[in-house]
Amino acid sequence: MMQHTDVPPAAADDAAAGPAREPALRALSLGAGVQSTTLALLAIDGALPKPDVAIFADTGWEPAAVYRQVDRIAEALIGAGVEFHRVSNGNLRADALDPQHRYASVPYFVRNPDGSDGMGRRQCTSEYKLAPINRKVRELLGAEPPHYRRVKRGQVCEQWIGFSTDEIGRVSDKDQLLYIHKRYPLLELGMSRKDCERWLSARGWGDTAKSACIGCPFHGNRQWRDLRDNHPAEWADAVDFDAAIRRGGARGLPLHGRAFLHRSRVPLSIAPIDRVTRREHQENQTDIFDQIAELGDPDGCSPYGCRSGQPANTQKGAA
Ligand code: SF4
Repeated sequence: MMQHTDVPPAAADDAAAGPAREPALRALSLGAGVQSTTLALLAIDGALPKPDVAIFADTGWEPAAVYRQVDRIAEALIGAGVEFHRVSNGNLRADALDPQHRYASVPYFVRNPDGSDGMGRRQCTSEYKLAPINRKVRELLGAEPPHYRRVKRGQVCEQWIGFSTDEIGRVSDKDQLLYIHKRYPLLELGMSRKDCERWLSARGWGDTAKSACIGCPFHGNRQWRDLRDNHPAEWADAVDFDAAIRRGGARGLPLHGRAFLHRSRVPLSIAPIDRVTRREHQENQTDIFDQIAELGDPDGCSPYGCRSGQPANTQKGAA
């Protein structure tokens, strides 16, 4: 595979962000939300060098609008000569309910038998996004089939991650892999999420959808309302799933508590999603400005940290 010698023009003087060694592969991790879509289009426009590949990890449970968006971005990338890979580690929804499947750990809201509140562990991002992306990177770096576990020493992928300046706190050295050098072009360009939204709007991509599973427990009330009011089939799907995981999904909760998708810990069908939280109210204040500036909604789940929750840990199997 060709060794890259060029440096993104916008980052040429950013030695700290540059690769430790010349990468054999430059890969865009495409979450298909606002930020990674911006990265893809910046590369297509020539504002950044083109990555060799873009990789989208499909949980199998994204809204239809996200899949349409992925198809649109894929078409644009392929047209620009960038390989597009859609990878998967299974269907998160089906796996979470399948007693034969290893427990897919989704961060449900839990009501314990003693009435106290708890929360399930979030490993879904790691299992359904990070692991298949890392596996594809190893494969592209020449690891041997069928498991693609080992990458030859010195083979490095420069992996673009779409964190914007408002997400700088998510940048971490934790869980570094020898064969992946993370790079954050939006930080190098000084672009915030709002900057990305404005840029996408100007480029005809203003309706870029949020990327998150249909029944993600990290949805805010606004997202739940949007699902209920504008996407009834997806809402019904989430309500059905919520009822099915009451005992914790396929294997049940260790303390025999009850699990819920909504933070109120009542069934989604009757959860108080019409209540505007303080945070949503604050965001609405921003939205007034945004409407003037013709901006859109925040982003969803990223392979490198669900924006609605705490960053995910990389599983050992994903390394
Ligand atoms: S969107 Fe939610 S449920 Fe889906 S992978 Fe991310 S954290 Fe898990």
